[in-house]
Formats: sequence, structure tokens, C-alpha cells
Amino acid sequence: MGVYNRAPLAFERGEGSRLYSTDGEEFLDCVGGIATTGLGHAHPALVKTLKEQGEKLWHVSNIFRIPQQEALADRLCAASFADVVFFTNSGTEAIECALKAARRYHVVNGQPDRVDIIGFDGSFHGRSYAAVNASGNASYLEGFGPRLPGYTQLPFGDWEALKAALSPTTAAVIIEPVQGEGGARALTEAQLNELRAMTREAGVLLIYDEVQCGMGRTGKLFAYEWASDAEPDIMCVAKALGGGFPIGACLASAEAARGMTVGVHGSTFGGNPLAMAVGVTAFDTINSEETLGNVRDVAGYFVQQLNGLKDRYPDLIVDVRGKGLLIGVKLVSNNREFMALARDQKLLVAGGGDNCIRLLPALNLTQEEASEAVAKLEKTLDVVRASQKAA
Ligand code: PLP
Repeated sequence: MGVYNRAPLAFERGEGSRLYSTDGEEFLDCVGGIATTGLGHAHPALVKTLKEQGEKLWHVSNIFRIPQQEALADRLCAASFADVVFFTNSGTEAIECALKAARRYHVVNGQPDRVDIIGFDGSFHGRSYAAVNASGNASYLEGFGPRLPGYTQLPFGDWEALKAALSPTTAAVIIEPVQGEGGARALTEAQLNELRAMTREAGVLLIYDEVQCGMGRTGKLFAYEWASDAEPDIMCVAKALGGGFPIGACLASAEAARGMTVGVHGSTFGGNPLAMAVGVTAFDTINSEETLGNVRDVAGYFVQQLNGLKDRYPDLIVDVRGKGLLIGVKLVSNNREFMALARDQKLLVAGGGDNCIRLLPALNLTQEEASEAVAKLEKTLDVVRASQKAA
């Protein structure tokens, strides 16, 4: 179906942060499959696990115990607020599970009127009916019939509006601690703490969508960990969780998952042995000081260099934002055109809301590679400037 606006480019091979096109060109990859190939391309440990598990067992069904699934769930719970996990094949499905779990919680808790889900402008939670209704982006809702009842959106980070909106019919608040598609907008630690306090006080579940900002992207395993007292009740992760293999997960506290009893939810593929084996290796590689420390170091350098570019090109760059290696650069000129011009310099960057380009490289990007990306961006900015002068 014609749903994608594709770049005229195809790749046949990748290695680390390099991608090689079918016509033999080498690119520096700062898209990372949109924050998904968190360990770069063809990471040796992931390839080894995939091959080994591929020769043993791919799929059995969730009617059986799956040791690899239990291993990944144990790791996710040990490293977070969560007690239980449901595995999916995508971020969207993890969001579906989170929203269902939230409503079910209030049913078993004797408050079935609590059905409303509060989300925020500029958010992105996926493309299923529930996900587009939770994000409320008009362009993703248009043409699909009436909006689902029970979903509202507030300005991102506007806690006064949230305080006014929380009511006895509110089931949950869903938010990305760092918005991805919305243009790399990060909540502050104080905002996260305050949000947690408000939702707790109101008896409302707090759902984090860490599909993009989780799994090491910000320099901690989960973005909420930057705040001192902001643990959610439910959290969705995906993307880098499988290092490029399709895996999503909905994590929850035992309390928040009380309504998720036998028969209430399920998945054929979610959590199968092949996916989970890869997930365990990806998890162990990401959840290490080597990887997380690298994100903090390289992100610090990258952002400093990008701010240098902003100082040199104040007419072209509005600001540099985000957290860790979820970096947004807000441009004056059209971001889509800029992405194409960057490709001419053999640099791949992603688009984003608010006329940003996003840099979402592998978590093991080196400082030299970050420096190379900045040099390629500088050349791209020169091209933009020259074309503006010529016009
Ligand atoms: N939530 C966030 C924050 C995302 O960035 C995305 C995808 O970009 C999703 C949910 C949906 O995930 P998926 O595309 O894997 O269904």
C-alpha cells in the first residue's frame, strides 16, 4: 500500500553505524531504523544468538512456558519498577496492552467508571485505533470514522491543565518522558516527579511510553530513571529492545496488572523463543556501563558540537534539544528537504515534528562517528546557505 513516502535508496548491508546501499555507496546511519538498531547493524553478539536459536527453536505458542521469555521478563523486572511483563511484536501492541491493562485495573478495583485516558499534544503512540486516539494527532485520525470515546489530549507538560482534567472517570495518563516523533521534547526531572505525585494523589495510573526513549537511548536504561521519584505503573518499550528484531513489551507493577487475568489478552507471536533469545542478548549488551556510559559521553560531545553548529549557523538552526542520543535539531528551512540534502553528504537523519531533524544513532556510536556526522551536517548547512543566497 502506498502509505510510505520513501527515500529513493535501498541498502544491502550494514555494519555498526555504517549502511551500504545497493549501488555501493557508504552512509553514516544516524536514523538507526528510527531508534531501533540500538547496537548498530549486524552486531556480532546478536547475529550469533540469532543463528544459534534459529537452529534450535523459533516458535511454540504461549500455551507453553518459554524459558527465553521468562529470562527477558526477569531482566526487565529486575532493572525497573515492574513485576510482570507482556511481550508483543511492536510498540503499538505494547500500547494496546497498557491501555487495556489500565481500564481492567479499575474494573477489578471496583471503579469501572474510570475509563478515560489522558494523553498529550505532539505525542506518538502508534497507529492502531487506540494508539491514534491516545495521541490525538489529527492527521492520523482523519478518515477513520468517529474518534473513540474516552481519549483527550492536553498541552505537553502543562500540569495545570492536567490538574484540572483529572477526574473520577480518569483511568490513566499516558506520556512519553521524551517525545520522539513530536520533535525530541524532554520532560524535566522535576516535571516527571510532579506528574507522578499528581497521578498517585488522584488514584490514576501513570503509563510511560518509552518505546523510543527507553532501552538506553537517554543514557540510562529507562528515561524515567533520571527523575528521583517518577516510577510509572505501566510502561511500554519496543524498538531497541530487540536490537532490530521486532519485539515490544508492556511492563507493569503487580498492582496495575491485577486485571490482566487468564484469557483477558494474548498474542500468537509475542514472546516467541527466537525473538526472546535475541532480546536477552540485546538487553544484556545495552544494560551495561559500557553501552550506557558511551551514550552519556558521546551524547554530551555530540550535543556540544551541534550547539557549536547552531552558533555558526544561527540563521539555519533554531535549537538543539532532546536527551541522550535522542537528539532533535530544529531547523529554519524545511526539515524534509534537509534530510535529502544530508543524504547527498552520505549522512542519514530522521525527520520529526516541529520542523526538527532527529539524530537517533546506535548507542555504541563512537565520538569519531559523532564528529563525522557533525562535519556532514555542516556541509549540508553550507549547501542550504548557498542555495538561499542563489535564490
Ligand atoms: N510509541 C512511540 C513513542 C514510538 O516512537 C512508536 C514508533 O515510532 C510507537 C509507540 C509505535 O511503535 P511501533 O511502530 O513499533 O508499533
